[in-house]
Amino acid sequence: MDHGRVPELPEVEALAAFLRENAVGRVVTRVDLAAVQAIKTFDPPLSALGGLELTGVSRVGKFLDLDVSGLHLVVHLARAGWLHWRTALPPAPPKPGKGPLALRVHLSPAEDGGLPDGFDLTEAGTRKGLAVYVVRSVADVPGVARLGPDALAVDREQFGALLAGRHGQLKGALTDQTLVAGIGNAYSDEILHAARISPFKMADKLSDDELVRLYDAVRGTLTDALARQVGQKAATLKGEKRSGLTVHARTGLPCPVCGDTVREVSFADTSLQYCPTCQTGGKPLADRRLSKLLK
Ligand SMILES: [Zn+2]
Repeated sequence: MDHGRVPELPEVEALAAFLRENAVGRVVTRVDLAAVQAIKTFDPPLSALGGLELTGVSRVGKFLDLDVSGLHLVVHLARAGWLHWRTALPPAPPKPGKGPLALRVHLSPAEDGGLPDGFDLTEAGTRKGLAVYVVRSVADVPGVARLGPDALAVDREQFGALLAGRHGQLKGALTDQTLVAGIGNAYSDEILHAARISPFKMADKLSDDELVRLYDAVRGTLTDALARQVGQKAATLKGEKRSGLTVHARTGLPCPVCGDTVREVSFADTSLQYCPTCQTGGKPLADRRLSKLLK
């Protein structure tokens, strides 16, 4: 279940900023693969990264793109993945298939000496979705090639045109990476709450005023979350996301805007949260899981 810790645009951007500050300029000395299913490519091999300098780190949608002297180590953290910065990494390779560790990257020591640093990519839980790709161009990753424009780069006109061409509910439209890249389950709840629009409103039925509110909410919500997270240590980024949320993962708690009780709609493997007073004219939305059971 999603408790507001699944990495989305602000978290991945913050990880990229952290790595730009702490890891760029160092040499990748070794990469240990602990979860065989995490690696999705075989040419070039993971071992090709060894001995090359990490020259840049950027975010593409919810993907993290590490430029290793022209080769790209691309990471999709999925639902329960995270990146942990490690100091003084042990030289012995990790045991494969044990615990949450998926991949460990060893980096050369900082210029002031000391033991080698690096980072672990980990994934909690049994449903493994974390994916790692080694490619010559980031566009070689299928999920990247399909991405729509970035949620922080799209302009209002383009955003309006994309939604106008989409016959479906806003909640699904906002989280569809091929439409707009970077927004997931948590921030779509937050964006719709900030815009005061129902998650079930049809994307192609927005009034001009609603479109302006939604576009401003996308930018405002993501920019605020980013400002809270950039500059923090990679290990503490996750906790911060939860504290900044107004409705997501807050079922039963008061809405910070109006005081009404935050409600939830459950689906097979996910859920959404919203405030009836702020978003649906005070009327609770039908819970599909419940209505299915009652049939
Ligand atoms: Zn409210």
